[in-house]
Amino acid sequence: MKKYPIVIAIDGTSASGKSTNAKLVAKALGYVYVDTGAMYRTLAWHCLKKNVDVHDAKLVANACRRWKTDLCCVEKDGLRVVQLLVDGYFPEKEIRTPETAAAVAHVAAVPKVREWMKKTQRDCIQFGDLVMEGRDIGTNVFPETDYKFYLDATLAERSARRAADGVNENLAARDQRDSQRAVAPLMIALGAKVINNSAMTSEQTSKLLLEEIYNRFPAK
Ligand code: C5P
Repeated sequence: MKKYPIVIAIDGTSASGKSTNAKLVAKALGYVYVDTGAMYRTLAWHCLKKNVDVHDAKLVANACRRWKTDLCCVEKDGLRVVQLLVDGYFPEKEIRTPETAAAVAHVAAVPKVREWMKKTQRDCIQFGDLVMEGRDIGTNVFPETDYKFYLDATLAERSARRAADGVNENLAARDQRDSQRAVAPLMIALGAKVINNSAMTSEQTSKLLLEEIYNRFPAK
């Protein structure tokens, strides 16, 4: 019988360590890493580039309907990573600017955008077993998975982490937007293990994640 790919869903607030830990877990398990936030950021960047007003849901939905994208899986630093290309281009640096960060939660609140993202993110199983991080993976994109996690840390700790990366951003505002939108808001999925890692290193957090994943693996 063909084995259905496993999806490890890691959701949580901004700067709660999702990326770092999802990558560590993906590396340890040999799974493909998917950063869904990067996909929303890519659309935000695309809208800014095309002068689409990100506060106008209709225009954003139109841009999302029309853009030409491809999903691909590349090897990077010993990790297999999914990338969303726009017109054959992967905007790696451009999606991390303050302008994109300020625009992304608006784009992400548009229902048609979320529909498109859900389909595209589910399509990632073509690449194999996944560790997928985001805001609605356990609740909305792969609600059927048995491997759900929710990472969080205090606002002070998360802001300090971003500042250490040289990014000064109003995380509370973005989290509030993400938690209060009508479609697929940020929330703890049923059955998710919640980890508050305010006082933990990424080694400790990823170890805890892996222990829980191994515990949830079906007995052979
Ligand atoms: O994780 P990252 O900070 O890159 O996410 C950027 C933004 O993309 C989030 O603040 C949120 O607005 C949106 N997002 C989302 N659903 C996801 C992943 C990201 O709405 N699954």
